[in-house]
Amino acid sequence: DELVSQIAAGEVVERPASVVRELVDNALDAGATQVTVRLLAGGVRLIAIEDDGCGIEREQLPLALKRHATSKIGSLADLESVGTMGFRGEALAAIASVSELHLLSRTAGQASAFLLDASSGELRPAARSTGTTVEVKELFFSTPARRKFLKTDATELAHCLEAVRRHALARPDVGFTVWHEGKLVEQWRAGARDQRLADVLGEDFLGDSVAIEHVAGPLRITGRAGIPDAARSRADWQYAYVNGRYVRDKVITHAARSAYEDLLHGQRQPVYVLHLAIDPTRVDVNVHPTKIEVRFRDSREVHQAVRRAVEAALSAPRA
Ligand code: ADP
Ligand code: MG
Repeated sequence: DELVSQIAAGEVVERPASVVRELVDNALDAGATQVTVRLLAGGVRLIAIEDDGCGIEREQLPLALKRHATSKIGSLADLESVGTMGFRGEALAAIASVSELHLLSRTAGQASAFLLDASSGELRPAARSTGTTVEVKELFFSTPARRKFLKTDATELAHCLEAVRRHALARPDVGFTVWHEGKLVEQWRAGARDQRLADVLGEDFLGDSVAIEHVAGPLRITGRAGIPDAARSRADWQYAYVNGRYVRDKVITHAARSAYEDLLHGQRQPVYVLHLAIDPTRVDVNVHPTKIEVRFRDSREVHQAVRRAVEAALSAPRA
């Protein structure tokens, strides 16, 4: 019921950036090649995410908002090897319970799009090309206690941008555009991985970092490691991905940091973008509702591989 879903929402939706993350996940799962994010007031008044993905059938629209309704996995066996960003079927239901949500979608086979108003349940024909637009208005309007915890619009916008950045670094093949208050804030065109790194992290980043390329048994690690000192001003750039999913993981963080051990002076953090490709049965992504934490079957193996990968990159002669 209403209360249960609002409590569940607390685990998934903390602030506008959590909504942005979940909705962009969905757009990518739908095979989008272009994702457009429109925000008002740091996302508190409006988050609209538009994609050119596969869309949702008219009959499926109400179902998409149901708790634990997912079209992405059909069995427990699938859960062992999740290939999509989403699989819990919680995000849309959770977001709808703490906002005014509209779902506008059209599949390639349909003659028109359909618009679903989550609060009234009204479903009517509407216009748009193939794909989906999710509009989330007035986040936490019915839960003032939670709304009070939001920071200034500028801070919430910064968090939203960081959420898009995390996706953009993992998916250079997808174009991302962000608007705030009607102004274009970011535009990253689809392209090669290095171009995306330069677009998102700055032109200097490629020159200030070295390539990582390392294979260790079931693990393949790629990415870039910032050269100590060169990347001084980017203390908070630690991006780690497991099978394309952005994660915050102590094992990876510690391993990367230890590869820099004698190279970093004082308290500075290393700068890196790390992509781990691992046999999906060797990692559990269903640890937390936000899926930002993972559990490795063999964390020593991961630690050792990450450390070696970064060490090898840093000690290789530079061209
Ligand atoms: P999950 O992503 O875990 O399946 P969500 O609550 O995020 O759960 O989404 C529920 C369902 O709605 C998805 O399984 C998918 O079928 C559908 N859906 C949501 N967003 C989109 C989108 N942008 N494009 C196509 N289908 C979508
Ligand atoms: Mg999802």
